[in-house]
Amino acid sequence: MVAGGSLFGATPLAKHQVATYIMAMAPKVFHPSRRAFLATLPSLGLLAACAAESASSEPGEVAFEADAWRELDDNAWRARLSDQAFRVLRREATERPFTSPLNAEKRTGTYVCAGCELPLFSSETKYDSGTGWPSFYDVLPGAIGTKPDHKLWVTRTEYHCARCLGHQGHVFEDGPAPTGLRYCNNGVALTFVPDQV
Ligand SMILES: [Zn+2]
Repeated sequence: MVAGGSLFGATPLAKHQVATYIMAMAPKVFHPSRRAFLATLPSLGLLAACAAESASSEPGEVAFEADAWRELDDNAWRARLSDQAFRVLRREATERPFTSPLNAEKRTGTYVCAGCELPLFSSETKYDSGTGWPSFYDVLPGAIGTKPDHKLWVTRTEYHCARCLGHQGHVFEDGPAPTGLRYCNNGVALTFVPDQV
């Protein structure tokens, strides 16, 4: 297996599936407003595309800098996670679209990191983006860090759990009001915790 994992997981996608993936994950790559979007990222507490890729000074990540979750090695993560969750969270693979049960999740509750259970999203910000991945228009304060991702021919903004640094998905500029953002998340990287009724 190639270090860093396959972009599409262990099983390669067919050509038409790759095309679908590209369109869904980067639907506005040639849109002129992308530059403007990237310029707004610092004001949102996100890293701009030109920022350093290894280190992050985002408040959420700094808060967990000395956290025990950061100490886990690959063997410890493999023991905790399913193979698919490991490939997504620890190797930045992407699950196949329309495969996550969380796409259809409509209950009120909180979506937590499947690695360390840090709350990442409220169900209040979840919406159906039609992409086949659970999508949110906002993230809980301090819950994620971001970095530029150059795996495709355009730079996308990757985001990950602020505590265990597990990869979650990519954020795009085509989300609904009030943020205009779309957090396109791998379902396998999240665990849904319904509110107590
Ligand atoms: Zn986590």
